[in-house]
Amino acid sequence: MAATDILIVGAGPTGLILALWLTRQGLAVRIIDKSSGPGETSRAMAVQARTLELYRQLDLAAPVIEDGYKTPAMNMWALGKRKARIALVDAGREVSPYPFVLIYPQDHHERLLVKQLQALGVEVERQTELLSFDDGGDQITARLKHAQGDEETLTARYLAGCDGARSLVRHQVGSGFEGGTYKQLFYVADVSASGLEPADEAHVALDQSEFVLVFFYGEADRYRLIGIVRDERAEHPETLTFDDVGHAAINGLNIKINAVNWFSTYRVHHRVTDQFRWGRVFLLGDAAHVHSPVGGQGMNTGILDAINLAWKLAAVVKGQATDTLLDSYQAERQAFAQKLVETTDRMFTFVTAQGSFADFVRTRIAPVFASVAYKNENLREYLFRMVSQTTLHYHESPLSVGKAGDVRGGDRLPWVPVPGADNYEPLSTIGWQVHVYGEARADLQAWSEQHRVPLHTFAWQPAHRQAGLCRDAAYLLRPDTYVAVADPQADVVALGRYFSDRGFRV
Ligand SMILES: Cc1cc2nc3c(=O)[nH]c(=O)nc-3n(C[C@H](O)[C@H](O)[C@H](O)COP(=O)(O)OP(=O)(O)OC[C@H]3O[C@@H](n4cnc5c(N)ncnc54)[C@H](O)[C@@H]3O)c2cc1C
Repeated sequence: MAATDILIVGAGPTGLILALWLTRQGLAVRIIDKSSGPGETSRAMAVQARTLELYRQLDLAAPVIEDGYKTPAMNMWALGKRKARIALVDAGREVSPYPFVLIYPQDHHERLLVKQLQALGVEVERQTELLSFDDGGDQITARLKHAQGDEETLTARYLAGCDGARSLVRHQVGSGFEGGTYKQLFYVADVSASGLEPADEAHVALDQSEFVLVFFYGEADRYRLIGIVRDERAEHPETLTFDDVGHAAINGLNIKINAVNWFSTYRVHHRVTDQFRWGRVFLLGDAAHVHSPVGGQGMNTGILDAINLAWKLAAVVKGQATDTLLDSYQAERQAFAQKLVETTDRMFTFVTAQGSFADFVRTRIAPVFASVAYKNENLREYLFRMVSQTTLHYHESPLSVGKAGDVRGGDRLPWVPVPGADNYEPLSTIGWQVHVYGEARADLQAWSEQHRVPLHTFAWQPAHRQAGLCRDAAYLLRPDTYVAVADPQADVVALGRYFSDRGFRV
């Protein structure tokens, strides 16, 4: 018998979230990291609405919001002038209980997740490195090295490779990492600064093939800057300082940098691995996909990988589902990662393209377009949906069935905050559930009691129709809150068949 259920390699955001979700569902985990402590530098800055929606399952949304900063607006600058101000605070007020963009530096975020994990009785095992592993078909045997150099052999039922872009797990299974590397060298810096107006908002400055993103994160005079290093300096990243970064875009912001608290550079890749599952081994987060930071999607995508996989692993380990359920992780997450890498690649190419026409479009056309377009409520909402990952769906998944109203199997449940009956309230637990908007028939109530799948009914309101829901239909939700079955007839035979066809026991 394996010593632990899941060995998680890597305690970045992806590994930490996986550990939290698995532990909450009663699985035994070991989480190791070769580093001596959580990341010290900011890296990802934005926590998207979809992440916060899912964080409710572990009561994490409130502390993250409290510790983070709801950025009021993104200001667009070009050639030294502020061209547009895009209000962000309630950009998605019809879409999500979290209609804003939350700025929460990754180092703060990781520390909070480590504390939450400790509260569940799990410690990250630091300075513990995965050296190699063997998938024996019925279990994993892993060789670990501890701080003092002593080695340990550990058995686990499954191995989760959350070990970042240079993943040893990915290398050892032999999964490719197709894509490329951008020629530009990025930097990230934490600075104390003055003069920026408005001081407590986010800014993006575009200047001939240069850009800088500036995030205020709630501490007076402190900002995180992300931008690119001047081409001619990028050859020797190890010797670079803040003086070597492209200053044209920064100067255009009228910002006075008083101190550089820390500074680091990094190369950005756009790559997706061939397969997310290899037998008993899974690849998640940056180990499976990497892309440009434009759009703030990287960390959030890793977190959603972990939440997607966690309930499936829990069901299989507890004997409530067969092993084939785990194949759906690959089907659902790889398609999304592929699309994301393509989209962020297009955005990145636009932002950094060289040449006078590109400069003209970026510095003159784009800010005007953004300013005009953003006044249109529909477009504002559309952009929020895209960036917040609330449009992400699993329509093509083998786990998605049916359509009722406009809502299909694989969709995120539309949020309908009818006063006194917010349909996201029951989504704070991890487990199957059925929603009915209207009246639930007696046989559905009996089915729900017999199978212990909670049934939540909401008195029918016009807002439900506007959201695309169908009166009296049954919406079976998966433990990660996506719609599994949307059945206009609310047929209990169809619900039962959904479980039996897939070998699920509830
Ligand atoms: C400088 C920088 C700036 C970035 N800026 C942004 C941004 O603005 N927005 C955005 O969305 N994303 C950004 N990213 C990307 C974002 O930080 C990543 O998407 C995110 O960290 C991925 O999390 P992860 O947990 O998958 O991997 P990581 O955070 O890379 O964690 C992997 C962990 O695995 C550990 N590990 C590796 N190998 C082993 C081994 N053999 N044994 C044990 N442990 C091991 C490592 O020590 C590390 O702690 C940035 C990345 C970098 C490097």
